[in-house]
Amino acid sequence: MRYQSTRGGVRGLSFKQAVMMGLADDGGLLLPETIPTLDAAELADLASLHYPELAFRIISRFADDIPAADLRDLLDRAYASFDHPDITPVARQDGVYILELFHGPTLAFKDVALQFLGNLFAYLLAERGETMNIVGATSGDTGSAAIAGVRGKDNINIFILHPHGRVSPIQELQMTTVTDANVFNIAIRGTFDDGQRIVKEIFGDLDFKSHHALGAINSINWARVLAQVVYYFYAWGRISKENAGGEVAFSVPTGNFGDIFAGYLAKRMGLPIRQLILATNANNILARFVRDGDYSLATVVETPSPSMDIQIASNFERYLFYLYNGDAARVCQAMADFARDGRLAFSSSERQQVANDFLALSVDTAETLATIRDFKAACGYLLDPHTAVGVRAALTLGDKAVPVICLATAHPAKFGEAVEQAAGEAPPLPPSLAGIDQRPRRCEILDADTAQIKAYIDKHAR
Ligand SMILES: *Cc1c(COP(=O)(O)O)cnc(C)c1O
Repeated sequence: MRYQSTRGGVRGLSFKQAVMMGLADDGGLLLPETIPTLDAAELADLASLHYPELAFRIISRFADDIPAADLRDLLDRAYASFDHPDITPVARQDGVYILELFHGPTLAFKDVALQFLGNLFAYLLAERGETMNIVGATSGDTGSAAIAGVRGKDNINIFILHPHGRVSPIQELQMTTVTDANVFNIAIRGTFDDGQRIVKEIFGDLDFKSHHALGAINSINWARVLAQVVYYFYAWGRISKENAGGEVAFSVPTGNFGDIFAGYLAKRMGLPIRQLILATNANNILARFVRDGDYSLATVVETPSPSMDIQIASNFERYLFYLYNGDAARVCQAMADFARDGRLAFSSSERQQVANDFLALSVDTAETLATIRDFKAACGYLLDPHTAVGVRAALTLGDKAVPVICLATAHPAKFGEAVEQAAGEAPPLPPSLAGIDQRPRRCEILDADTAQIKAYIDKHAR
């Protein structure tokens, strides 16, 4: 399997090279040069597999330069950190299926990919005899999942900036109670935007970047998307007995378009998906795109589902590449147009194609909270606010003739305040969080000043 950039300047990469490159050198995103497809017999074979074995069967088709035994080991260890035997169990609740993606160490779906990516980075670095320093800024979720993915690895150090006092108490604890020697939490006296600006400036210093072998762990790495393809197959398999192996629909709470893009790939690989429902909160650029062909920037508004408070979806370019039939020059043109005008226009045939690929709904804050309340009243199950956005979209747009599987992207306890406000009941803390506020912490508080942060990294880099 070979990889190419959406912008046409990079091709012929191996899987390993694609993982280590992250963002393509021409500024684009990496995609496989062909998408493997499964026939009905192969699909049926997958339906009964355990999660790690299924992950191996899917991922090995794309990662054909990693020996089978090694890939199996990377996946087994990644998913041993989950606290449910099914890894991503499926529960039937109030007429829909809930695919629980929050049984990993930080209680959100990003663990599914980052537990794998952390092991994969450590493996590839060991093979090359190299080390890496990961630097990133977080508003909460991604940082803790990235830290959990690489803690204890002896060839990776990780530096994560978060805005001091401005992430939720649980998110802060999930980061700062990781005391492994290779983890450096930096609380900056400033905002999330300051953190992002500082990280950009650090990566912009190319000497510093290459001297310290800086790496990123953001959602554009191909291996993250790939790891997420697996649970679409898994969920389909879990209900295939009662569904006679038939079609399903998925509803996906969407921010950076990574998760739903994995669903789009699963469909192109032959998984019988009748509907892919793209659910956004009030930050609805992607829902406007699907419904009206209106892909235009608006300002970000705060919602109870902060991990979806996004306007520029970093994985969208991957879909554009397919929408433009693999025409990299058009992708380049579109990205330049969007950077200049903050909008993109689509032809009627393109809009027809988009409508064939997705349905979409934007769910506002009042509807989100009402969905948490009503769902709890109907079946006693507590949804986190991100998941509630997807459930609302599923109940509104789902085809009644097929089972609808709603991706549950976070544990309700992770966003306990909003859930309590909506449902009148605080979600119980899962065992992994019990006593977390009593554990030792490690965190450095620094000014939102690039020079200071660079000096700190310089001192602690591997
Ligand atoms: C990251 C995240 C999302 C959005 O996923 P994308 O891949 O960015 O679309 C949704 N819910 C939660 C809880 C998240 O952490």
